[in-house]
Amino acid sequence: MADDMPAILCANLQKRFGELKVLRGINGQIHRGEVVAIIGSSGCGKSTLLRCFNRLEGINGGELVVNGIDLSKPKISRKRLIQLRAKVGMVFQQFNLFPHMSVIDNLCLAPRKVLNQSEKESKETARFYLDKVGLSEKAHAYPDQLSGGQKQRVAIARSLCMQPEIILFDEPTSALDPELVGEVLLVMQNLAEEGMTMVVVTHEMQFAREVASRVMFLNQGQVEEEGDPRQVLKHPQSERLQAFLSRMN
Ligand code: ADP
Ligand code: MG
Repeated sequence: MADDMPAILCANLQKRFGELKVLRGINGQIHRGEVVAIIGSSGCGKSTLLRCFNRLEGINGGELVVNGIDLSKPKISRKRLIQLRAKVGMVFQQFNLFPHMSVIDNLCLAPRKVLNQSEKESKETARFYLDKVGLSEKAHAYPDQLSGGQKQRVAIARSLCMQPEIILFDEPTSALDPELVGEVLLVMQNLAEEGMTMVVVTHEMQFAREVASRVMFLNQGQVEEEGDPRQVLKHPQSERLQAFLSRMN
């Protein structure tokens, strides 16, 4: 992908479920190396927007280009879809690890199936990223033997094994006990500092303030306010964002 092309570009992006208009004209660009925090009340469309970015949902109008792949059309070829998903990782609130597979097998699966890596290569890559998230010693554990924080670090390592260009995080710490949130945010902060392009739906305002390069406040399927987190979170312009932030504290 050309360096000057945004990682994600949306123009008047629309998404509805039946009669319900969930995304009502989202505009914006996310550049390579940016960390964008998406905030907003429950039901405002945050997950739907992320799911459009890796085509877990198709869009109903407007334009969407992700990592150079045009997702504006109703149909997309299987080949393009695989290309997209290989380069755009996703980390979910509920981890979505395969429970019957060891940690290392969870990490090796997609690189072997999608990237056709050899067993040796996929294991080396998996070891590298497990080490990066501080879980080298858990390679042969099963997901139910791990804490929530460890599961989420495994999920992040699994995503990294595909060598993604963009990672989408949907409330990655919302299912965790409070004392486990920090270890996951730290891994994410390290990734951000290494220049990964990240879109993070989060309620962690401290993370948004300190790690994100930009914050985007969604309200009823539209971007109500966005900008530098220190500015936007400290001096919100819109009344809705002011109200949202006061509820967060
Ligand atoms: P958020 O992540 O901001 O809480 P969502 O994107 O999950 O919000 O949901 C936005 C709205 O779309 C909600 O009203 C939700 O009920 C609705 N919605 C989400 N997914 C579906 C679906 N698959 N079918 C019907 N309605 C949906
Ligand atoms: Mg959501």
